[in-house]
Amino acid sequence: MKAVVLREFGASHNLLLESVPVPKPGRGEVLVQVHACGVCYHDVINRRGNLPRTHVPAILGHEAAGEVVEVGPDTPGWKVGDRVATLQRLSCGECALCKSGRNSLCKKDNRFFGEELPGGYAQYLVAPVAGLGRVPAGISWAEAATVCCTTGTAVHTVRTRGRVRAGETVLITGASGGVGLSSVQLARADGARVIAVTSGEAKAEALHAAGAHEVIVSRGLDFSSEVRKRTGGEGVNVAIEIVGSVTFDQTLKSLAPGGRLVVVGNLETGTVNLNPGLVIVKELEILGAYATTREELDEALQLTASGTVRQFVSESVPLAEAGRAHFRLENREIAGRLVLIPPALQ
Ligand SMILES: [Zn+2]
Ligand SMILES: [Zn+2]
Repeated sequence: MKAVVLREFGASHNLLLESVPVPKPGRGEVLVQVHACGVCYHDVINRRGNLPRTHVPAILGHEAAGEVVEVGPDTPGWKVGDRVATLQRLSCGECALCKSGRNSLCKKDNRFFGEELPGGYAQYLVAPVAGLGRVPAGISWAEAATVCCTTGTAVHTVRTRGRVRAGETVLITGASGGVGLSSVQLARADGARVIAVTSGEAKAEALHAAGAHEVIVSRGLDFSSEVRKRTGGEGVNVAIEIVGSVTFDQTLKSLAPGGRLVVVGNLETGTVNLNPGLVIVKELEILGAYATTREELDEALQLTASGTVRQFVSESVPLAEAGRAHFRLENREIAGRLVLIPPALQ
């Protein structure tokens, strides 16, 4: 099969198309013919060699969607022709965390596609079924590929962790990325008033189109006074922190008493100063949100199928252009999401 194999960590031109053997599904696994695979910033970090669990040669990609073409032994409930999309990571399904529904925290099996497991930059992918969701008919392969990492993460962040309710006001930082645009749409659909923060005027229109009631364009990092102004001095009930350390202080200051801050991104991987007094007197809740469970992926796929949440896939390019796609992503030349399309089979 054709696959983009990373033989050495480093620059984007290290991503080259090769011919490699088609892998064989084992127990609890299926062979998936990949129809589309999203390119995520996580893949760029991985390619540079900054994810310790990846070893070269590696096939990257944790956002694959396609069709089951072979079912391994002892894999009940799955058949040839099933439409599937990958979760970012696996879970064991049996530990206390998994049994309490918190699969994305499982430590017994935390293998990631594109890291310990070969990923979706290929014509075929072997996937343990614990790492797959089922794609309804009517969702394109390109949309299905990106749903997990955008809308799935938004479901986990807005609904599961943030417990956003109708009538609440929700602040979303870094709102114009994939998770942000999905979070804006989802919070709005759930009846919240949505205030989106973005760094550039050019991105404001997409945020209004996604359903944000208010858009704050903040080049400097002083948006909390603007948030107060737009909430009659109250502050917001929930804040979704997608940027992380850089905006954390302003986001914390934007919260109303009893407010909930959900941290889902930390782009600069920095640390923050926190005044515990503020957390105490306002009884704030600071929550983390990480990845997506299979139930949340199913929910995200349904939200997409029903048109409640729209995917922003801007480009589909041939798999052979993976290196070029990485280069452009690193240079911020891609608006929305880009997916790779493997060559048709002979
Ligand atoms: Zn991703
Ligand atoms: Zn587990």
